[in-house]
Amino acid sequence: MDKVFIRNFILFTLILFACAGSLIFGLIRSEQDISQKDGWVIHSHDVILTAEKLSSLIESLLAAQRGYLITGNEDFLKEYAAKKAIVSERIAKLSTLTHNNNSQQSRLAEMRNYFNEFSLKLEERAKTFAGEGPDSQHHLGDFTVIDGLRDDIMRLNRAILSEEYEILDQRFNLLEAKKKQYFQSLFVGVIVGTLLLLIFNGFLYNAQRKRRRAESSLKSTEERLAIAIEGTQDGVFDWDIEKGRVFYSRRFFEMLGYERPATIGTTNDFKALVHEDDLPDLWDAVEKYLNGEISEYMQDFRMKHESGRSLWIRSRAKALFNEKGKPTRMVGAHQDITAIIKTREKLETEKEQAMQANRAKSDFLAHMSHEIRTPLTAISGIAEILMKRQQNLDERQKQLVSTLNSSTSALKELINDILDFSKIESGEIDLEEKSFALDDVFEETIRMMSLRASEKGISFIFDYDVIKNIDFYGDSKRIRQILVNLIGNAIKFTDSGGIIVRASVEKKAEIVLLRIDVSDTGIGIAPEDFDLIFERFKQADSSVSRKYGGTGLGLAISRQLARLMGGDIFLSSEVHKGSTFSALLPLKMSQNVTDRNAGQRHVKKLNDQIQSALNEQTRVLVVEDYEGNVVVVGFILEELGLDYDVANTGLEALHLWENKHYDVILMDVQMPEMDGFAATREIHRIEDQKNMKRTPIIGMTAHALVGDKDKCIEAGMDTYIPKPLVEADLKEALLKHLQNNKKAA
Ligand code: ADP
Repeated sequence: MDKVFIRNFILFTLILFACAGSLIFGLIRSEQDISQKDGWVIHSHDVILTAEKLSSLIESLLAAQRGYLITGNEDFLKEYAAKKAIVSERIAKLSTLTHNNNSQQSRLAEMRNYFNEFSLKLEERAKTFAGEGPDSQHHLGDFTVIDGLRDDIMRLNRAILSEEYEILDQRFNLLEAKKKQYFQSLFVGVIVGTLLLLIFNGFLYNAQRKRRRAESSLKSTEERLAIAIEGTQDGVFDWDIEKGRVFYSRRFFEMLGYERPATIGTTNDFKALVHEDDLPDLWDAVEKYLNGEISEYMQDFRMKHESGRSLWIRSRAKALFNEKGKPTRMVGAHQDITAIIKTREKLETEKEQAMQANRAKSDFLAHMSHEIRTPLTAISGIAEILMKRQQNLDERQKQLVSTLNSSTSALKELINDILDFSKIESGEIDLEEKSFALDDVFEETIRMMSLRASEKGISFIFDYDVIKNIDFYGDSKRIRQILVNLIGNAIKFTDSGGIIVRASVEKKAEIVLLRIDVSDTGIGIAPEDFDLIFERFKQADSSVSRKYGGTGLGLAISRQLARLMGGDIFLSSEVHKGSTFSALLPLKMSQNVTDRNAGQRHVKKLNDQIQSALNEQTRVLVVEDYEGNVVVVGFILEELGLDYDVANTGLEALHLWENKHYDVILMDVQMPEMDGFAATREIHRIEDQKNMKRTPIIGMTAHALVGDKDKCIEAGMDTYIPKPLVEADLKEALLKHLQNNKKAA
């Protein structure tokens, strides 16, 4: 029974008892009152009766004397004496009865006096009569006095009676009033009692109804639960931990293929069916849960099916603990999750396969980039050489060289885009942190792009005065890349009107931002495509790629780069009116003042430095299997006045190195017979063995992913330069090692 019911029940019972008690007490009190008042009435009756009798006694007293006076019979005298005694006794009784009534007392005192005198006179008369005989003259006078005294006594008696009647009347009224009050109280008590009984009954009825309803809801809940459990096909167990007994539902064993009715058993029944390998872990989990070390119990384990195969079971349970925290009961369910586990295993295998496929894709990408970049390095290098030696060519040839040069650049751009994106996707991109002049980057880009704009016959306005003299700290190449992409798109998608590029500096919530707005009057972009065009390989319209070309990678890369720098790119556009792409980048200003002409002077300075680091015998070994690259590298080395030998494989390089001293080795990575890594290792091994001076080895690889750099260093190469080769990079690396050699010598 619930606590509220018991509390209300006790409360009601107490109220009922209190009411009944006070009613009975009131009634007893009233009854006592009534019987007291009743006593008073009887008392008054007594007084009246006594007083009434007194009158007749006085008369009979007189009559007895008269009898004696008339007859002379002395019996009358005896009667007289008896009556007199009775009268005195009555007066005494009246006096006792009215002892607390002063007026009656004084009347009685007076009456007693009169009576004494009255009896004295009567007795004197009797004596006179006995001496003188019936004719005596004294008798007449006596009569008058005696009658007077009797009248006085009678008057007083009447007065007593009259007052007593009055008192009786009052007492009677009081008694009546009390009786009426008594019946009223009785009536009210009975009504209140009945009402309380009715309420109490109602309360009991209500409680009973609630209980019945709770019972029926419990029953239907139980039924629902039973149906639900039946529906889930779960096996249920209820373990009475204190008694060591377990109730197993029919389904518990049925799902394992055993025909056992719902039964009481032990934990061993269950343990016997658990797979031996899983039992220790399972029991450990149960004990940990019961000890309160883990808050929830859920375990997956294998159980033996009657057929011999294993079933995967998910067990979930809840324990009940007593007030001391000791577990008393554990109730739970077993679910067959074999199918889920199988699917999971299948998915894991598929995932592993997919990951392998992805790795294969990455490998393929790296391979492809190598394969494409190797000939591309040669093509672009040759194109550059031809561009530099244009003076010997006729107009037609110049045109061909120029086309060759621009196509190579476009192809390089595409390859770079694809590589950039795969690097960003795999998180392998490293941003440089170097100080550079922002306006140099703008100047260079705008010089390059304005040519394209003028070719298309559109205006090109730029304003980057604000950032003049700002030395930016970050990755100049990547900022240039963003700029080239945004301006390139603006030019590409604008056929009339023009482009405006504006750089500004703004402050947002304490952060100083570099803002680059690239606005055009081109085809514009529909709002629904704003997000889409920033996705990789996505273009606003399929007709775009047909008409304008492109891969849909530029914006995706630019936005990712901006985000990597802590900024972003935003867009506002209207179809057929134009677009504005705004790149916002945190402006990190450099402490160092950059050499404004560093870019242009850099290569010249490098050349000079290399020249001064050379001596008569300086010799370089170029290890490269691809003829095109040999030509390009050879051209750069020749320009510097450096002697060099060429080896087409690692093995060839090894032989050459063993016979001749080289100041620097430029080592390709992928080659037939022996690759660059193996050749490097072998050269250093021999050097170590013979205690020789280490030859600096500069790795050259088209594997542009970050991991390649580590592989080169791991193999023992001193520096790593990516392909396609950048002239300045190669020269910087050469200078570093030539200078080191000179210092060592
Ligand atoms: P691509 O230019 O190589 O197609 P981008 O990622 O640079 O790839 O651009 C994706 C798409 O966004 C473009 O194909 C074009 O539909 C749209 N787009 C980009 N810039 C502009 C612009 N200035 N005006 C109109 N559309 C643009």
